[in-house]
Amino acid sequence: MICILVLLRHYTRVLYVDIDVHHGDGVEEAFFTTNRVMTVSFHQYGDDFFPGSGNIHSVGEGLGKFHSINVPMKPGMNDETYVPLFKNIMNKVIEHFQPNVVVVQCGADSLVNDKLGNFNLSTHGHGECVNHMLKYGVPTILLGGGGYTITNVSRCWTYETAVALNKTLDNNLPKIENYYEHYNPDFKLHLTVSCLFRLVFEHFLGETSCGKQKQPRIFTGNRNTML
Ligand SMILES: [Zn+2]
Repeated sequence: MICILVLLRHYTRVLYVDIDVHHGDGVEEAFFTTNRVMTVSFHQYGDDFFPGSGNIHSVGEGLGKFHSINVPMKPGMNDETYVPLFKNIMNKVIEHFQPNVVVVQCGADSLVNDKLGNFNLSTHGHGECVNHMLKYGVPTILLGGGGYTITNVSRCWTYETAVALNKTLDNNLPKIENYYEHYNPDFKLHLTVSCLFRLVFEHFLGETSCGKQKQPRIFTGNRNTML
């Protein structure tokens, strides 16, 4: 919010994009009544998931009407379902709002196997959203955010720093003393999303991206119980 307040001294229109698994409630509320800031939050919603706000009908008020966009989603979103949705929505947002500057909140709790979030994004999928925002060629600030499986947070933001710098990183992590063992057992930069996690999404899609039809499974809560 402070970042956006400073940007408003210099730019007419600021776009805030939030891919943290939680609703960006604080930023939305701060700019709910202005048409100079558009907030777009992609988040898990329902079943009392924190913070509980961010339904699709929350669009702003007064001058700010239709300048708050919420994309509430059920658990299990993965690269195949989340990333195309993200790109389609952001293309329209950029076309209509035409921001002078963009702030992206890159919360890593939307990654697979987060301790709080129940999305199944890989580091590639999460980074693709960041990369997509950079492709618009609008000055962009990337921020961190939530993330509760710490080794995945460091993986994600390391990769996205490389994306921003247009650099390619080796998927094998460097053997840095005191830290390397935290990345046991695979010692890789990128996260892989197992079929087990993909199957969660069958409930909503009707078929699995793992290749064969299975009986619907319903997500039941804490991901750790599924591992
Ligand atoms: Zn979060």
